[in-house]
Amino acid sequence: MTEENKNVKKGGISVDTEHIFPIIKKWLYSEKDIFLREIVSNASDAVTKLKRLESLGIREATDDNYRITVTLDSDAGTLTVSDNGIGMTEEELDKYICSIALSGAVDFIQKYESESSEGAKNGIIGHFGLGFYSAFMVSDSVEIETKSYTDAPSVHWVCSESGEYELSAGERTERGTSVIMHISESESEYLSKSKIRAVLEKYCSFMPVEIYFEDADDEPKADAKPINDTFPLWQKTPSEATDEDYRDFYSRVFSDYKAPLFHIHINADYPLNFKGILYFPKLSNEYETVEGQVKLYYNQVFVADNIKEVIPEYLLMLKGVLDCPELPLNVSRSYLQTNTYVSKLSAHIVKKLADKLCALCNNEREEYEKIWNDIAPFIEYACMRDKKFYDRVKGALLLKLTDGSFVAYEDYLASAKEKHENKIYYSTDKDLQAQYIAMLEKEDIKVALFERSIETQFASMLEQYMEGVSFARVDANISDTLKSDADASESEALKELFTDILGSGVKIEFSSLKDEQIPAILTVSEEARRREDMMRLYGLPVDPELSDATFTINTSSPLCTKLEALSSAEPDKAKQMASYVYKLSLLSQKKFSAEEMQEFMREGFELMMKL
Ligand code: ADP
Repeated sequence: MTEENKNVKKGGISVDTEHIFPIIKKWLYSEKDIFLREIVSNASDAVTKLKRLESLGIREATDDNYRITVTLDSDAGTLTVSDNGIGMTEEELDKYICSIALSGAVDFIQKYESESSEGAKNGIIGHFGLGFYSAFMVSDSVEIETKSYTDAPSVHWVCSESGEYELSAGERTERGTSVIMHISESESEYLSKSKIRAVLEKYCSFMPVEIYFEDADDEPKADAKPINDTFPLWQKTPSEATDEDYRDFYSRVFSDYKAPLFHIHINADYPLNFKGILYFPKLSNEYETVEGQVKLYYNQVFVADNIKEVIPEYLLMLKGVLDCPELPLNVSRSYLQTNTYVSKLSAHIVKKLADKLCALCNNEREEYEKIWNDIAPFIEYACMRDKKFYDRVKGALLLKLTDGSFVAYEDYLASAKEKHENKIYYSTDKDLQAQYIAMLEKEDIKVALFERSIETQFASMLEQYMEGVSFARVDANISDTLKSDADASESEALKELFTDILGSGVKIEFSSLKDEQIPAILTVSEEARRREDMMRLYGLPVDPELSDATFTINTSSPLCTKLEALSSAEPDKAKQMASYVYKLSLLSQKKFSAEEMQEFMREGFELMMKL
């Protein structure tokens, strides 16, 4: 150890290397598990380095069976990570372990101290690796047995938790390194097989070198399988993988046995340089948590779960893996939040998702329609949150029609051109609004079905984005297409009759409708209804009386002609009938209360008596 490394001064805080071990133990109380990731990834790096020497021709290529073995010996109280990688000479060990790695640990502690003084303590703990020295979070002492790939003799190094170390000639005959951790009494959970297996599975499942986990008590098995997949799916090119591979990978990584709706395999070149697979999960019901999970990897080494920072908030239901060698192995949330690379990564993901939706819509329409109901709430919400996303996916937005079929907005508007210009008719209740829907469908006008409350808000947004397009609920007005050319002159007698019955907020109009069966129709203007929806949304009281409503009397209806004649001959009976007609029209607008329903039925029975 050089003088220079013994005392490092920064920001007035002095950290003596002698104090480093107690500090490591005391401070790194959270996510201690990462020590194993650090030691195993060092072993994996050691193998990768050796392979690189081979590929560069510096070392002759061998058919060596490269591997890492993690051995738990609970009787001896040790956990050992061995590799057959590059190994270290005495000089290298002195340089890399005693000097460089230690100064990295000192840097960490200084960074931690300065951050903690700003109250950022929780953000940094566990998101800042200590490399090799993190082994001291769980060990009383650590030994290294190493032999370089060169002819240099092997070395043995042992370091106690006070920081005292001894370097001596080693006994190792095979190339590679073993790190033997003597687990402290207080950390005995790391002597449990299930704990070590769980930690290895979490952090090392996709490391690029085969990892075998052995228990010193068990006989070594000849057919032992590595715990990891050294060539994970995201490293393959999409043409190499089948749909089944993607599904299997998903259920294995996320323990979700419902097949995802679709996936995107991203392989971004320079400058973003990352790979990943993102899945759109199938959510079984609206109560299920919509929060997805994105696992971040660094060259196949697990870094962190649930990295919200790399996915925009409106796409949080996505699940997937991202391997970003451009990000450091140890990232803090605050780092991710402010990093420009991360924001570019996020923008790229959004673009890829939009491209995928358009491709599905254009090329796999049948499949796309099958998943539309599941994805629509998220896609619509995303469009509302991000205009750029909307611009990219607008061609892939579908309208569900009342007959259960789907149509793209563009196609709906194109076919609507002649009959109802740029108006999109929608219904929010297929049963209640059946009368209005039937009238429009008779005239070949298609009606969209809005089943979720977000859709009306989405429609308002589309009105702003799509020049000249407007949405109208089926019962908002009477389309000109429904009117005939027949005489629609007002009848004073009918006007008088109905004025007494209708509330003050309801206007009377006369119109000749093509459908002669319907005596009258009640409509409520789109603006008034949206105003009320808004008030409901903000929890404001809504007047139960109808406002901005129009009662249209159909002059072509034989029933209205009869009513007009009756108004002078039998005014009482006419009044009773008119009231009943009004209530029938009201029935398509709202659900009756118990009292209203009883009165409606009583009036019906009375009328029948008069037949
Ligand atoms: P980092 O891995 O970030 O460089 P570490 O503190 O984990 O930092 O390790 C310091 C150095 O020690 C490594 O860069 C490497 O040169 C050396 N080293 C650690 N473990 C091994 C190993 N198993 N085989 C060969 N060299 C190793």
